Amino acid sequence: MSTKDFVEKDYYKVLGVPKDATEAEIKKAYRKLARENHPDANKGDAKAEERFKEISEANDVLGDPKRRKEYDEARALFGNGGFRPGPGGGGSFNFDLGDLFGGGAGQGGGGFGGGLGDVFGGLFNRGGGTRTHPRRGQDIESEVTLSFTEAVDGATVPLRMSSQAPCKSCSGTGDKNGTPRVCPTCVGTGQVSRGGGGGFSLTDPCADCKGRGLIAQDPCDVCKGSGRATSARTMQVRIPAGVSDGQRIRLRGKGAPGEQGGPAGDLYVVVHVDAHPVFGRKGDNLTITVPVTFPEAALGGEVKVPTLGGPPVTLKLPAGTPNGRTMRARGKGAARKDGTRGDLLVTIEVIVPKDLGDQAKQALESYREATAGPDPRAELFQAAKGA
Ligand SMILES: [Zn+2]
Ligand SMILES: [Zn+2]
Repeated sequence: MSTKDFVEKDYYKVLGVPKDATEAEIKKAYRKLARENHPDANKGDAKAEERFKEISEANDVLGDPKRRKEYDEARALFGNGGFRPGPGGGGSFNFDLGDLFGGGAGQGGGGFGGGLGDVFGGLFNRGGGTRTHPRRGQDIESEVTLSFTEAVDGATVPLRMSSQAPCKSCSGTGDKNGTPRVCPTCVGTGQVSRGGGGGFSLTDPCADCKGRGLIAQDPCDVCKGSGRATSARTMQVRIPAGVSDGQRIRLRGKGAPGEQGGPAGDLYVVVHVDAHPVFGRKGDNLTITVPVTFPEAALGGEVKVPTLGGPPVTLKLPAGTPNGRTMRARGKGAARKDGTRGDLLVTIEVIVPKDLGDQAKQALESYREATAGPDPRAELFQAAKGA
């Protein structure tokens, strides 16, 4: 929208009303024209759509007493379409643009700086104009439950997602026959203004038509007149390796598609990870507790340890390994982003047999005799007394 357009456009002509038309006359004319030319009632008719835009534009200005006054004044000053900004501006245009439009307008040749553009841009971007702007798609939130192994290795999982889309049955009109009527409350704009301070007005979505500008005459059975439907789609989503339970990951651009060429929203996936009966996770490391016998711990030995999704590893247990010691099997943990892996932390648990055979009992009795010596708790009692 250029300034020239503004000056040259005759909104009275667009609405077919005289220059001294009353507010009621303007409103009435607008409603009639908006109804006839509403794009949802003239599917695929580019001319009607163009005309509807013009009508909305004209109503935005003439329907607002303050803007109508501005428009009338501007046209009175610039002439009705005869004005051409040019070097020097001509003898009859020596008024101060800055005064009129709140500053910012360039002085001298050409005369039309950013100031005017701002004023007029503001004028025309209000109201119905928003429908043609690219809109970013919705962000979608979803959840997925992974097995322990999938979380460690990463997985591609099917995600079923639902988002809002126009109802297929009525092409989004909400009307059984595809012929909704224009909402009388907002006269098709989908927005209602409420006065704010300082000459500004705030717009809210129209409550009567839920911001659609249309009301079904015969509501569609499928969407109950809302014109909206829930569209479900299943998408294969790659969950990166190394996610942990409760983590929320963001997949950029995998949300709902944008409208009018806008970008898609993002998809947020909350990940739940099932517990593993044997392995645990500590960051990049996996954990496991491995039972060993007393002779293995005392005498040392080789202990086979399972790994997640790989062949077992053999740990060399040094003689005299205490209960609860943690040993490290390098590179047997969870995958990292850089392709390397964390470690498997193996905690030794010395098991005490419940039932002993006669031979084992005898052997242990001999062991007790062989190791009889000072009280192993003597130090403990000493320390408990002190400090
Ligand atoms: Zn409405
Ligand atoms: Zn429908």
